[in-house]
Amino acid sequence: MTYRLANVDDRAALVVGDHWFDVDRLSGGALGPDPMAVLARPDELRDLVAGLDSAPPDGRVADVALGPPVPRPRSCFAVGLNYPEHAAETAFEVPEAPLVFTKFPGCLTGPDADVELRSEFADYEAELVAVIGRTARDVEPGDAWGHIAGLTVGNDLSDRALQFAAKPPHFDLGKSRDGYGPIGPVVVAPDGLTDPTDLAITCAVNGETRQADRTSSMIFDIPHLVSYLSRILTLHPGDLIFTGTPEGIGAKQRIFLEPGDVVTTSIEGIGTITTRCR
Ligand code: ZN
Repeated sequence: MTYRLANVDDRAALVVGDHWFDVDRLSGGALGPDPMAVLARPDELRDLVAGLDSAPPDGRVADVALGPPVPRPRSCFAVGLNYPEHAAETAFEVPEAPLVFTKFPGCLTGPDADVELRSEFADYEAELVAVIGRTARDVEPGDAWGHIAGLTVGNDLSDRALQFAAKPPHFDLGKSRDGYGPIGPVVVAPDGLTDPTDLAITCAVNGETRQADRTSSMIFDIPHLVSYLSRILTLHPGDLIFTGTPEGIGAKQRIFLEPGDVVTTSIEGIGTITTRCR
């Protein structure tokens, strides 16, 4: 059985259809409520889903405000220029090795969030986010999916002015303002997706589609990224990898996000996150 994991009031929840089930309650306390701890126990989550039968849910997903499904990763990596047409629109050369930077975990927020822009140069970047589920060190690409707890939708919101304020540019701070890392609504186990390597990804601003591609367009795919990072440092359960954004960022057209804008980011089989700019 596959699983879809969410965060309800900072407690891990399994989502089945329109309903959510509290993991701690469902497991009789065996898994506990911590969303970060639960991510490291995919086998037990599968058993829980398999045993659901007619267990009563804790509520309807539509009736709760979900938090970020991974609220406190030790590390949150992001990859730049990982779609060929996006690399082209930035006028940077396609990188020969993954271009990895940090989104500080404090920037993470939920799938239905208000975000204070604090910049005239805020931009959107729809991204598939991989969530580590099993400690990864010196992992071969062929074994990488076994270290992934699941995939979620993210937006790598970026303050372009801050991103390029220093010379040479240093992306981390411009990508890490409060709320600049919306993720959710759920973490979907890879086997819960028809093909986790080829998912439609879109971003719309006020209903107008700005980005539309498929995740199979990535230059460095998820197994490559996990393997590459795991040879440099140990990846821990709950660590996040924002895997890069497709073509269509606002900066290319000199159109930046403004207060009142609503950014919707969707990935096939996972869901949609909605970010309201303030
Ligand atoms: Zn990005």
